[in-house]
Amino acid sequence: MSGEPPRRRPAVVLERVSKSYGSGAVAVHALRDVDFVVERGDYVAIMGASGSGKSTLMNIVGCLDLPTRGRYLLDGIDVRGLDDFELSYIRNRKLGLVFQSFNLIPRTSALRNVELPLIYARVSGAERRARALAALGAVGLANRAGHGPQELSGGQQQRAAIARAIVTDPALILADEPTGNLDSASTAEVLQLFDRLNVVGRTIMMITHEPEVSEHAKRVIRLSDGRLVSDTRTAALTDLPPRFVPGDLPAAAARTRSDEPAPRALRPSEAST
Ligand code: ADP
Ligand code: MG
Repeated sequence: MSGEPPRRRPAVVLERVSKSYGSGAVAVHALRDVDFVVERGDYVAIMGASGSGKSTLMNIVGCLDLPTRGRYLLDGIDVRGLDDFELSYIRNRKLGLVFQSFNLIPRTSALRNVELPLIYARVSGAERRARALAALGAVGLANRAGHGPQELSGGQQQRAAIARAIVTDPALILADEPTGNLDSASTAEVLQLFDRLNVVGRTIMMITHEPEVSEHAKRVIRLSDGRLVSDTRTAALTDLPPRFVPGDLPAAAARTRSDEPAPRALRPSEAST
């Protein structure tokens, strides 16, 4: 087994996670005993009809809410019992969140938006700027760093939001309907970007109700009425994502975590072919 990479902490472990809103006869059971593990390097789509529990799951995995029952480990950290301060610290260090509506700060440059998580993380000015510029380069927006959201197209705004999500080198990129507000050309561009981020070793969990979007993932988990009803792998963990189109990888998207395994298809012996 000497050729096997060492086993690393999964990005996400959910053990019998349930979430109810309200109690007694009027309780809504938004999640019921949901169990799954997301290993580093995976690319998972979460699907389900409206009301099936996707946003509730996003809030729990994104440390914006806690389960009513069950256990959730993010990068090995049990979030139960953490206070609000600790949760926001974990969110800042371990997660990159991407939303349907981009959530960029208006009238603030793309560079400044991308620097923000690093300001919270107390990264000093020069390093902050360099890392934010590198992240913008990784999403193809190096030449838009000084532009505010109002000067960017929808697709560019979402790419800036993705730069903000990756700039802290999170254990997990968590996206909720990231292409929901985009036209088809921008959707294709953003999905290609997610594919590339996964190719360089980033772990992605993406919530969507669109099959064209979920076809980019290596694994599809379906929810119905708050239960996990199927969990289907469409590409091996170490393979390229199924819809990946080879091309020039933006240099700055290169892995910065030394513990990320390169996908099999990009190991040096094969990468040049
Ligand atoms: P989805 O994102 O798949 O549409 P949600 O997670 O938003 O599903 O909702 C799952 C269920 O939980 C739905 O029945 C919804 O009405 C209910 N729900 C979600 N949030 C709340 C809340 N804050 N209070 C009460 N019920 C809620
Ligand atoms: Mg929702």
